[in-house]
Amino acid sequence: MSTNEHGRTFDVVVIGGGIVGAAMARELGATSLDVAILEARGDVGDGTSKANTAILHTGFDAKPGTLESRLVARGYDLLGAYAEQVGIPVERTGAILVAWTLEELAALPSLKEKAEQNGYDRCQIIDADAVYAEVPDLGEGVLGGLTVPGESIICTWTTNLALATEAVDRGVTLLTSHRVEGLERYGRRTRLMTDQGPVTATWVINAAGLGADWIDEMFGHHRFTVTPRRGELFVFDKQSRPKVPKIVLPVPSSKGKGVLVSPTIYGNVMLGPTAEDLHDRTATGTSEDGFAFLLEKGGRLMPTLLDEEVTASYAGLRAATEHGDYVIELDAEQQYLLLGGIRSTGLTAGMAIAEHATGLLADAGVDVTPRPESSLPEPPLMPHIGEAGARPYQDDELIAADPAYGEIVCFCERVTRGEVRDAFCSSIPPTDLDGLRRRTRIMNGRCQGFFCGANVQALLDSAGTSTETEAAR
Ligand SMILES: Cc1cc2nc3c(=O)[nH]c(=O)nc-3n(C[C@H](O)[C@H](O)[C@H](O)COP(=O)(O)OP(=O)(O)OC[C@H]3O[C@@H](n4cnc5c(N)ncnc54)[C@H](O)[C@@H]3O)c2cc1C
Repeated sequence: MSTNEHGRTFDVVVIGGGIVGAAMARELGATSLDVAILEARGDVGDGTSKANTAILHTGFDAKPGTLESRLVARGYDLLGAYAEQVGIPVERTGAILVAWTLEELAALPSLKEKAEQNGYDRCQIIDADAVYAEVPDLGEGVLGGLTVPGESIICTWTTNLALATEAVDRGVTLLTSHRVEGLERYGRRTRLMTDQGPVTATWVINAAGLGADWIDEMFGHHRFTVTPRRGELFVFDKQSRPKVPKIVLPVPSSKGKGVLVSPTIYGNVMLGPTAEDLHDRTATGTSEDGFAFLLEKGGRLMPTLLDEEVTASYAGLRAATEHGDYVIELDAEQQYLLLGGIRSTGLTAGMAIAEHATGLLADAGVDVTPRPESSLPEPPLMPHIGEAGARPYQDDELIAADPAYGEIVCFCERVTRGEVRDAFCSSIPPTDLDGLRRRTRIMNGRCQGFFCGANVQALLDSAGTSTETEAAR
């Protein structure tokens, strides 16, 4: 990072490079504003946005009338269209919400009504036979269900990367490893104190996820407290995917959406998440209690799933607050915009939050007129890392043109040397192994890097140029 960037005053600084911050920066990158993202970690998308259930929600079950309900519904359309444009993997699997008790069965009509209040009128109540016809491997005792044909699965990693990549391509300055630790207001500006030195901005947008309340306090507000709500998940091996053709949801309770079973975009099956309120905002480890809880739930939902092998487990932290809605507020005096309390729906709503927030900035007099389309770069074309559709190792023409796409580096996930090389040549190259995993799926398979780990390390050390792969030997 040059001292020039620390010396200059950005029109807007977005704190946080998760889905919300990246969507915001992309949106403002289309204007003439000079924008920067400050991200505490070494990469974008390394916070909550990397570890969720990866469902593109219709918003059928949101609380009607809330900002969240409106922005999830809008985000569903925006992200769905953007995914098609830039190649974010999406599968339109649909979902069934399953009732296992008489009480849950009785709740289905009101859930259908709620969906309709949220503007979603495609839900249907079906009987137990119809539920089993859709998902034959469900455990015994299903009493009925509610179909949600629009619920879909998506790649959260590619979503975050696409948004941040387009922001950078549009001229946004990305400052990773810049943690905001304090700030000073002077005149009409804010000097943000980071662990790499000060960065000055005319406007500050707080999209700091789990840290958003702390940044808000730095501006003198006491509007909310983030309570990290941990969600632990199991990922089952690919053989189990035929058992779960669509997302299977429980009837939600006061404790949240509950434990679901879902296919993943990479061809696995996911069971989870748990919902546990914590104090530690770094507690992304899994726990014995969490595992026991998931096994008990999974045993009921789909007993035969537990016969399948577990490839991985992980946990993410939702930024829950004491409010039942997002906390999105603009402080015109301080030239500061808060995008807080983006709890369990921010992957879906991110682009709509950015659209809404840009409207708030316009109302406050910020010139957010988009530059002419001809002066904007083409949207990025993201590498296809989903299982639906051809991957590079399956594309003979591509391999004939560039043999690196025929050289498999990670055998479980069929990742090629060409894809790893491309990741390092992209607008936001990976800086560590986890970043490379999110861009390519490398080492995410059943062996979790046992066989390919050394080759992958060589590729990482050489920024993708090493040819010391199994295939090359
Ligand atoms: C278990 C689980 C399941 C979920 N399932 C879904 C789902 O299926 N569908 C859906 O739509 N949503 C889902 N979500 C919610 C979704 O993942 C989040 O709402 C979304 O990722 C929030 O994005 P964000 O940008 O606000 O936060 P983050 O991704 O956490 O980004 C915030 C960024 O700010 C940075 N930061 C924090 N403090 C500072 C600072 N002081 N200085 C600089 N940078 C800072 C962090 O490093 C981080 O990268 C789920 C969440 C969890 C945990």
